[in-house]
Amino acid sequence: MEEKGFDEYIGEFDKIMSEKGYLIPEEKWTPQDEVIYVPKDPFRISIKDAEKLRFKALKYSFSHHYSNNTFYNKLCKEKGIKPEDIKKPEDLVKIPLVPDKFFKDYPEDGRLFAIWLSNIYTGRLPDIYIRKKRPKTEEVIDDFNTSGLTVTLSSGTSGRHTFIPRDGDTIRRGSYSIAKNIIAMIYPFWQRDMVMYKQTDPAGTNLWVGKSGTVLVHLFKETVVGTKIKITPKMVRLSMGGAKNPIERIEAIIIKSVAKRHREKMIEDFLSLLQRVEKDGRKIALVVQPSFMYMIMRVMGEKGISFDLSENGAVITGGGWKISEKDRIPHQRFRDKVKEYFGIPGERILDIYGMVECNTAMIQCPEGHYLHIPYTQMYPMVLDEDLEPKGYGEVGRFAFLEATASSYPSFIISGDEVKLLEHCPVCDRPGPVLEPEIKRAKGEEIRGCAEEMRRLFSISEE
Ligand SMILES: [Zn+2]
Repeated sequence: MEEKGFDEYIGEFDKIMSEKGYLIPEEKWTPQDEVIYVPKDPFRISIKDAEKLRFKALKYSFSHHYSNNTFYNKLCKEKGIKPEDIKKPEDLVKIPLVPDKFFKDYPEDGRLFAIWLSNIYTGRLPDIYIRKKRPKTEEVIDDFNTSGLTVTLSSGTSGRHTFIPRDGDTIRRGSYSIAKNIIAMIYPFWQRDMVMYKQTDPAGTNLWVGKSGTVLVHLFKETVVGTKIKITPKMVRLSMGGAKNPIERIEAIIIKSVAKRHREKMIEDFLSLLQRVEKDGRKIALVVQPSFMYMIMRVMGEKGISFDLSENGAVITGGGWKISEKDRIPHQRFRDKVKEYFGIPGERILDIYGMVECNTAMIQCPEGHYLHIPYTQMYPMVLDEDLEPKGYGEVGRFAFLEATASSYPSFIISGDEVKLLEHCPVCDRPGPVLEPEIKRAKGEEIRGCAEEMRRLFSISEE
């Protein structure tokens, strides 16, 4: 089969994105749009052009959040930083960062939660009608979601969730950039006529990982979804052992037993899909969590099943590498196993790294499996223990300024420990990368900072 040129390949992608409403029309572009719509390949744009776009967008975004976000404005004033202080690219490090924990620090009471959300939201929240007298957090989220705003969340291992409010354009930009990062990186493998297996249902979930994956459905002729169960924060909490009373403990048992039956059915369906695809010689992309693939491969091992997708398969993983409370799978071992069971070569097994606070995602390159950062829209940093930026080649806490979010300040100190490199040691894409194996940062030092934010915040509620 003849290989398409990259321009034609990405042109087809843009055509679909335009049809499905993910392209903001050029006459409406702000610098926040230019950083994602201008580069043809987000990982091949020259450093000079990228930095120019990025500086303009971050300056614009900072000024927007400074002027329109109650809590962020307070934080900036506390730190003595205002938009006029950001004059040149070297000034970007002055932009005040928000610890990710801050977005977890919500009140349990539904009505207070609504107030909390209105304080972390940039701009004016849509008026919502809260249906119940004493609403639960989940009900308030549903009420917001019917008003045009989307409250995206992440499941937390602690049972606490991170809530990030996103408006339509923020979702559009985030979805487009995540999709483009994947499609550009797997060039020339993608074509519209493929099958996508998506482990989790993108519809009907408020989890960002599901929401941001909705865009992928449009890129493939056929999508098969592994599980359609709508995962609620409560379910996640209960399944993680967070039951608070006897009734919840019973609910937890029911959830676990339903989950077990459901899992068996998922494995059965997955294997029959792969048999069909292999027989028909169709291309397939598996969008899965490593732990799920690991479970499938264990069953395949027991049953003596394997597939040959050496030409026609790709695996996109995301969502963490823990397979149990204690164990992580090393990436190389995972790729070796996938090759053994599916015949898919390592260059088509790519991991995505993202988080609910970030409006894009990083993706591994096929050549070296380093995580490439979309550097027109992200200014990455590693911080030392005092939360001061360190240089390239250092290990530290990952932080970033992300330019495309208009509904919340996406200037974040994450809870992850990374090693940031100026260039990929293996491939020739010019931008910065992270080493692929990412860990949670140790220590409690960030808590004081979150506490400071919480106090700031409680004042703004009055
Ligand atoms: Zn690379």
